[in-house]
Amino acid sequence: MEMEQLRFTGKIRPPIVLKLGGSVLTFKDKIEAPRMDAIERIAGEIAEAKPESLLLVHGGGSFGHPHAERFRLTGGFKAGLTQLLGLSETRRAMVKLNSLLVEALNRKGVPAFSLQTSALTLTRKGRIASFNLKVVEGFLKLGVPVLYGDAVADLEKGFTILSGDRLSAYLARRFGSPLLAFGVDVDGVYTADPKTNPKAKLFTEIHVGKGFKKILGLIEGSKAIDVTGGMRSKVLEVKGYVASGGKALIFNASKPGNVARVLRGLKVEGTLIVG
Ligand code: ADP
Repeated sequence: MEMEQLRFTGKIRPPIVLKLGGSVLTFKDKIEAPRMDAIERIAGEIAEAKPESLLLVHGGGSFGHPHAERFRLTGGFKAGLTQLLGLSETRRAMVKLNSLLVEALNRKGVPAFSLQTSALTLTRKGRIASFNLKVVEGFLKLGVPVLYGDAVADLEKGFTILSGDRLSAYLARRFGSPLLAFGVDVDGVYTADPKTNPKAKLFTEIHVGKGFKKILGLIEGSKAIDVTGGMRSKVLEVKGYVASGGKALIFNASKPGNVARVLRGLKVEGTLIVG
């Protein structure tokens, strides 16, 4: 069924949730530096694949992590105006990156709708306590909602950083998505960071049941500044969704063609995480 036919039927087909990593969309070691070629290419691949139902979430990369680190945002509200101004600046930077992606999608003819995560979400100690799913659902009927990892109000800590990884796993579970795909700049989850360890081996499949802890122990963290935990935490975040019958894939979105293939349901090299 084409996207057009789904509109205004009152029902939505559970969307594929595609999380685009900051490592793909930005230069992570710089400050507020977008990879415009990647943003443009991925927008084109999404337009070309014409998925029936798609929800996009993106990470922060150099629009989020350096700010969050600089203003010490991870622990929540401490005190002082400086931190709050930093919070405001971080939020602003994320809106910028979000706009770049939405604009690129619009140029390719995709009706993409920017949704501010922090206007839909409340957390308690970093966990999502309430989320306005109806708003996302409303825009899903019209096109592609585009959310992002954001600094959100927290009932106990004042505010917290809600990572794009955590948010996308939450949305995939709530919507009962057929697939949660994480596009990153490596081919999947390895035994160690493949950028620094040439001996690193790719996990083609990870089961969240028996042996899961052992595998987690093998996965090293992200080398670039990443206030929300890197590769290991991605695997951890998807646990609940996968245990409830979902399927997650971590794949390389920096390789041209992969995003389109994933959205078309074609095989792509990567790490499949299943229950
Ligand atoms: P993003 O910000 O795009 O979501 P992350 O930085 O969180 O991505 O995770 C991807 C990065 O994690 C890769 O760039 C890779 O260098 C690094 N990394 C660290 N450890 C591993 C591992 N064990 N397997 C794969 N990648 C890893």
